[in-house]
Amino acid sequence: MFNDELKSNQLLIDYEKFETVLDKKIIIKHWREIELPYEKAKLLSPIEVNAFLEKGKNQIFVNGNVEVMLQIHCSRCLKPIEYWIDETFSSVYMDKRYEKFLSKSEQLKSLDNIIYYDGITIDLTNRVIETIISSVPIIPLCKEDCKGLCPICGADLNENPDHNCENEEIDPRFSELKKLLEQGNF
Ligand SMILES: [Zn+2]
Ligand SMILES: [Zn+2]
Repeated sequence: MFNDELKSNQLLIDYEKFETVLDKKIIIKHWREIELPYEKAKLLSPIEVNAFLEKGKNQIFVNGNVEVMLQIHCSRCLKPIEYWIDETFSSVYMDKRYEKFLSKSEQLKSLDNIIYYDGITIDLTNRVIETIISSVPIIPLCKEDCKGLCPICGADLNENPDHNCENEEIDPRFSELKKLLEQGNF
């Protein structure tokens, strides 16, 4: 998958590089696109990540924030939309070597927000990608009342509010049915 190829050394943080806390601002400029569930979105700005890392006993707590401008498309009229993302994330990175000390139920309970790492390097890449993907609306709209496209000819109904080609272009196989419908026989 495309997102698997997104990498940045800036998002790799060495465990040994900080004592107890680390407050880091990361600007990623070289990512061009990100794959969303329904489309590939262009990045219109660098990605700005602010991450605050705190060492616990056997884990590292990460709280962060991701900001970026994306180009997505209206799901009704397909026009490009500029969409600003400003979203927080948090996760716990646990040293893999301690995984075996957790009971099975603890492991299951913690699957959601615990990420195991090799004890040396924390990679924030996936958290950044997930944060962006989960911030994009499932049904993006250019405006609340976007009228979309004519299902027959594709004309933009926002620009042509009176457009109606149903009458002229109807499939001949349906014309009999249409007549019956109009006569109120159904
Ligand atoms: Zn639209
Ligand atoms: Zn039409």
